[in-house]
Amino acid sequence: MPDAKTEEFDVIVVGGGPSGLFSAIFARERGARVLLVEKGNQLGRKLGISGGGRCNVTNAKPLPELMDNIPGNARFLHSALARFGNTDIMRFFEGLGIGLKEEDRGRVFPRSDKASTVVSALVNSVYERGVDVWTDTPVRGLCQEDGAVTGIRLANGNRVSAKAVIVATGGCSVPKTGSTGDAYPWAKSAGHTIVDPYPTEVPLTSNDWFIRERTLQGLSLKAVPVTLWYNETKRLTVEEGDLIFTHFGLSGPVALRCSHYVSTSLRRKKSGNLTASVDALPLMASEALAETWRRWRRDEPRKQVGTLCRQILPDRLADVIIAETGIPSSSQVANLNNDMITRLVKNTKSFAVHITGTLPLSQATVTGGGVSVKEIDPRTMASKLVRGLYFCGEVMDVHAHTGGYNITVAFSTGHLAGESAAEFALDPVCFT
Ligand SMILES: Cc1cc2nc3c(=O)[nH]c(=O)nc-3n(C[C@H](O)[C@H](O)[C@H](O)COP(=O)(O)OP(=O)(O)OC[C@H]3O[C@@H](n4cnc5c(N)ncnc54)[C@H](O)[C@@H]3O)c2cc1C
Repeated sequence: MPDAKTEEFDVIVVGGGPSGLFSAIFARERGARVLLVEKGNQLGRKLGISGGGRCNVTNAKPLPELMDNIPGNARFLHSALARFGNTDIMRFFEGLGIGLKEEDRGRVFPRSDKASTVVSALVNSVYERGVDVWTDTPVRGLCQEDGAVTGIRLANGNRVSAKAVIVATGGCSVPKTGSTGDAYPWAKSAGHTIVDPYPTEVPLTSNDWFIRERTLQGLSLKAVPVTLWYNETKRLTVEEGDLIFTHFGLSGPVALRCSHYVSTSLRRKKSGNLTASVDALPLMASEALAETWRRWRRDEPRKQVGTLCRQILPDRLADVIIAETGIPSSSQVANLNNDMITRLVKNTKSFAVHITGTLPLSQATVTGGGVSVKEIDPRTMASKLVRGLYFCGEVMDVHAHTGGYNITVAFSTGHLAGESAAEFALDPVCFT
């Protein structure tokens, strides 16, 4: 690192994740002298483990569908996504020579199937464009004077001056990647509101007997609809995807998609029950299932309920569903009355798992909460409170489902913050 006291930059970007890397590249493209400061010894660490280590660079769905997959403040992101969206991101990476491919549900990956391809290209692009990069350099705070940012304060006590500072420090989930919520106090002391961080895109916990006793541990169901209920009457969301039963509750993409609603509900309401209702047999409608049981009762009266149920469901799940219905598994199907059939159908089509919460923030894929978007201009990502201060990526109170949506948000807001901060820094008078 050069002698920091002598340095002066147009734009300083704090944080070398996808949002920081993009903001550095696009601030530099606008002609600003840019410094990127990262506390870790490598750039793009979280990006390198995203998408199962393959880096889900974006999602190819059209803008309205992208917005539908952003449960955390999608409207605020509309300008950024409209200005630089998924097709721009794909074009950018293809321009760097990275072949991309689209997989199921619009997810876009590098053809190499390696996140390192994306991270290296991005990092090379930062250096090639002439961005100054300081790694192993933790930032401790912002410097301000008369309502304007004037630079940053480093952990070693040095100050570095700049006309604009972009905060791209991420959230506080999976802290080993460097995202440890460092910027929340800085933003707060600059007058910003911090929405308390909470876990999203995270597995759900349950204390039901079949979870506690690990009866279903390791069982996975493909493409099942899950409805999340509050107090069994208010439907919070319906999501669809693969589900995995674990020793603590529910995991898999569909559980992760429900987690925003669980976290939000638990934060807002002090009491009440949350139930995930799983359609364990999505390819058969309720009436067809009831008819199947009636046919079995008519045609195979001596067969045991458990034996027949295992023909249509995984064995362990069939046993739990029968147990929940209160019918002995060994009873002959001839003994089932219509009410019992209705109960069997209900427990299969809406198998109830009582949800107690989520795994903690440290284990969440994404952080909900952060710097309130009410105090950030959505057209520029500029602070409405401090001149020259910008935010991008997960440090803000925005979050999306996994599937490339968060990374799209990081790139898109990074692009906007970079261009806006450079414009401001190169001609601050225009902004007075
Ligand atoms: C395991 C995993 C899988 C994921 N998979 C997906 C996926 O498939 N699809 C998807 O859309 N999203 C996924 N995500 C989420 C996605 O990776 C994040 O939303 C994205 O990385 C956020 O980018 P960011 O630039 O805002 O922050 P980050 O990537 O968190 O980067 C922030 C950077 O700031 C640095 N920093 C922090 N504090 C300081 C400081 N004081 N001084 C200097 N530097 C600092 C950090 O070291 C870090 O490098 C995944 C996340 C994880 C953990």
